[in-house]
Amino acid sequence: MAFQTKIVAPKSDYTGQLSARLDLLKAQGNYRYFLPLQKSAEKQPVFEVDTEGGKKSATNWTSNDYLGMSVDADVISAFVAAAKQDGIGSGGTRNISGTTTRHLALENALARLHNKTSALIFGSAYTANSTAISTLARAFDNCIIFSDAENHASMIEGIKLSRCEKRVFRHNDAAHLAELLAKEDLERPKIIAFESVYSMSGTVAPIQKFVDLAKHFNALTYIDEVHAVGLYGEKGEGVAGKLGLSDQIDVINGTLAKAFGCVGGYIAASKTIVDYVRSFGEGFIFSSSMPPAICAAATESVEKVVISAEIRLKFHKNVEILRESFEAKSIKFEGKDAHITRIVIGDSQRCRAITDRLLHEFSVYLQPINFPTVPKGEECLRIIATARHTEAQIFALAEALEQCL
Ligand code: PLP
Repeated sequence: MAFQTKIVAPKSDYTGQLSARLDLLKAQGNYRYFLPLQKSAEKQPVFEVDTEGGKKSATNWTSNDYLGMSVDADVISAFVAAAKQDGIGSGGTRNISGTTTRHLALENALARLHNKTSALIFGSAYTANSTAISTLARAFDNCIIFSDAENHASMIEGIKLSRCEKRVFRHNDAAHLAELLAKEDLERPKIIAFESVYSMSGTVAPIQKFVDLAKHFNALTYIDEVHAVGLYGEKGEGVAGKLGLSDQIDVINGTLAKAFGCVGGYIAASKTIVDYVRSFGEGFIFSSSMPPAICAAATESVEKVVISAEIRLKFHKNVEILRESFEAKSIKFEGKDAHITRIVIGDSQRCRAITDRLLHEFSVYLQPINFPTVPKGEECLRIIATARHTEAQIFALAEALEQCL
């Protein structure tokens, strides 16, 4: 039936509905306020911020620029030189003039890092996860995905996009995973998806056990090493690499935006898996490729991190000093398995009040971590010591926390 253009339905109050939801979010203390930092390559982790009382400096304890590579002089030079030569945007998707020699150099460096035959880069690790998981799962008839209960939103997105059946196993619980795997037909295609270092709790997966289960139950393994690449293993290949398990993991996902200080994400895997995702992954195919200068900067960063064991040592030493100084002041924290230190507050309003006071009175920047990043009731402070923090800054943080908690 043709609709009559003259009869116009009254327009619903769409804006009003959105505002009401935002008001509710604010009332719950979960509204996100961004702090516009003025970053400094020279002074990082100290930055400046405009406040009502004027400009002030503060120390950043939230950044995932774990090794300070975003301000590394060689990485900056590689970026500037490539930008001068190539310009900024790539101008196309990978298939349509968006593949340069710089893209391939980066993929080769990442494949080498993980001892895999191939790697594939994406605009972010989020896209890498959602695209690779959904594309692979759809490739196999009746595939079922086994997902850790604390997996990152990007992996959950990939699972949703795949439209495959999923089973969620309790966080890091190999016995529960085994129980769920045992219920399925051995022949049925399966993917076990998990992270190595969990970004909010700082827990570490029992990778060896998961790998053993995958072998026993005929499953592929997919690991997100976003918070581990650059930091663990002899050359920064991540936790799987540190344990000598890289060759038993089918797909390794990582980011260029944290320890490597740039932007972008990737998977490293066999030639066939990478070729499949390259050929069928919509999130890869239909998106402009990374700027060549970013690829040049990221390649420099990966190659430098691989040979810089001392910067990794400094990073881990700082994490240790931070925890010792917390213990000395009886500040309770979680996350001893890896480098992410968290202090559970359990209330979003209180979390914000603490971080506001830390910033305004003590020049300490910590972002309240609230729902939906963590479940309600687990609101926390997530504290990151980087390789660039000084001991004096660490002691000042412990002092400030002691006062504010
Ligand atoms: N996976 C995990 C565990 C993360 O914490 C994040 C981001 O914080 C991502 C994936 C996405 O990484 P990217 O920032 O490169 O999109």
